Amino acid sequence: MQTDVLIIGCGIAGATAALQLSVDHSRQVTVLTRAADASDSNSIYAQGGIIGRGEDDTAALLEQDILAAGAGLSYPPAVKLLAERGPELLQEILIEAAGLGFDRDADGKIMYGLEAAHSRRRILHVGDATGRAIMKALLQCLSEKPNVSVLTGQTVVDLITYPHHALDPLAIYQPSACHGAYVFNQASGQVQPFLAAHTVLATGGLGQIFLNTTNPPGSRGDGLAMAYRAGAQVANAEYIQFHPTALDLPGTTKFLISEALRGEGGVLLTPDGEPFMERYSPQWKDLAPRDVVARAIFNEMLESGYPHVLLDIASIHPAEYLRERFPQIYAHCLKHNIDITKQPIPVVPAAHYACGGVLVDLWGRTTIPKMYAIGEVSCTGVHGANRLASTSLLEGLVWGDQAAQDIRSGSDGDPLPESAVPAWDTSGLLYDADPNLIQGDMQTIRNLTWHYVGLVRSDYRLSRAIRDLRQLWLDIEEFYRKTRLSDGLLGLRNSAQTALIVAYAAHRTRRSRGCHYREDDPHEVKSASPPEEDRVKLSGGLG
Ligand SMILES: Cc1cc2nc3c(=O)[nH]c(=O)nc-3n(C[C@H](O)[C@H](O)[C@H](O)COP(=O)(O)OP(=O)(O)OC[C@H]3O[C@@H](n4cnc5c(N)ncnc54)[C@H](O)[C@@H]3O)c2cc1C
Repeated sequence: MQTDVLIIGCGIAGATAALQLSVDHSRQVTVLTRAADASDSNSIYAQGGIIGRGEDDTAALLEQDILAAGAGLSYPPAVKLLAERGPELLQEILIEAAGLGFDRDADGKIMYGLEAAHSRRRILHVGDATGRAIMKALLQCLSEKPNVSVLTGQTVVDLITYPHHALDPLAIYQPSACHGAYVFNQASGQVQPFLAAHTVLATGGLGQIFLNTTNPPGSRGDGLAMAYRAGAQVANAEYIQFHPTALDLPGTTKFLISEALRGEGGVLLTPDGEPFMERYSPQWKDLAPRDVVARAIFNEMLESGYPHVLLDIASIHPAEYLRERFPQIYAHCLKHNIDITKQPIPVVPAAHYACGGVLVDLWGRTTIPKMYAIGEVSCTGVHGANRLASTSLLEGLVWGDQAAQDIRSGSDGDPLPESAVPAWDTSGLLYDADPNLIQGDMQTIRNLTWHYVGLVRSDYRLSRAIRDLRQLWLDIEEFYRKTRLSDGLLGLRNSAQTALIVAYAAHRTRRSRGCHYREDDPHEVKSASPPEEDRVKLSGGLG
């Protein structure tokens, strides 16, 4: 397979890049996703919304809020680019090109939502299912572009870097660059090289390496692991944002219970019915910053052996009000026999967002020539040590556009001929991918990361995690080399690699900062909270 631009991943970042590249009819763009349905991604899960420019808002104010959340680690030029360009692109791409109808009031004016740690109302939303609406609009647009092909059920195995993958031994004297990827076709079971002049990694997050996560099953850190194996520089991998309240039901993916419930007076209780947040944050109690609440819940669970804590909103507001104010949460909980108007909600903290990733510049270029990374898999520097709510969809939009512009401004050069790289070698395969083993190993990775690389870290816990994960990773690599491929096996291999990347980064960084918390560091650098009078009530915080 030969294509001009290969985009790996079809969430908001990959879809935006494809759309912005499609205007150049001379280029063929191929978008791959491992999912069976092209819209299946983290992006469709986004509930709260996407940042625009509020009525009394400026780019400078948004910049200030992002920098304050980032705890001194955000890259100012990247923040400036997002704050200035983001709202313009939202208008150009999502509203004008894709025709997305964000919520408006009776006079037809956009209704801007307010979220935690934002100093202005600036969040555009479509009910509480914004991501789903965005992806539907973007995919509809892409389906009308003759030079864009979206292929589902295609799991990328590894990036093709030349001369690493060259057949010609003399190629080692040529400069290294990325030329596409080896791709596993789930239907045929075959692996094929997709050669491309430019490769764009847009594979999203890694929440599934943790025991509890708000991320869907495809967020396995595939892209981070592939880029790392190819030799790309990775940055800030230790900064994993945990959401304090996700519904505690069996399974790894947990439904997010919005911070807005606590904004409306909801109180966290132990299973014995005791409020506990005052012990952790006498000033803010249940409205303390996300990381403080998440760690408090984790600590209560750990010390008393609780499987979860409870969030009580039923005794605060009448049933009718709750049904109207939180329709999605009410309906979802009721489906699982929890009536939030009558009983407290069992909640646990859950891994939510990867602030770091594959290091890129303002154009989405990685440290490997001809390879880009955009969206959650990348580290643009916007989020620093902690992400401001609802910035991630906008980051995918901005860097999807930046990468497309950069590719369009240059020439593609001659593509690598197919004969230059080896065909996928299937000799020596002894086993079928055993689902029992895959599930067992995945569970081990998730347990290790949750307890030793999770909300509260220490030198000892991280050393243990590295030792155990390294041994597991070695075993999985050996198994991988002798086993016929499956999507699950590829996910396991990447999860093991990604868990190690996060654990090493967390071990190396001794200073607690933002969402990376080391209990053995007494000098924590916190995200700056807005002054009390500007502090926005937790009215959203879904993102
Ligand atoms: C519950 C929840 C609520 C959220 N709410 C908000 C919000 O309100 N506002 C906000 O800004 N952000 C929110 N976020 C975060 C935001 O949704 C994500 O950060 C963002 O959507 C990531 O977009 P992406 O394009 O980078 O990746 P994704 O949307 O995750 O897309 C990744 C793509 O890569 C593909 N892929 C992965 N691995 C492979 C492989 N090996 N081979 C082929 N394809 C592969 C996937 O199939 C998918 O198509 C939320 C996240 C969650 C989980």
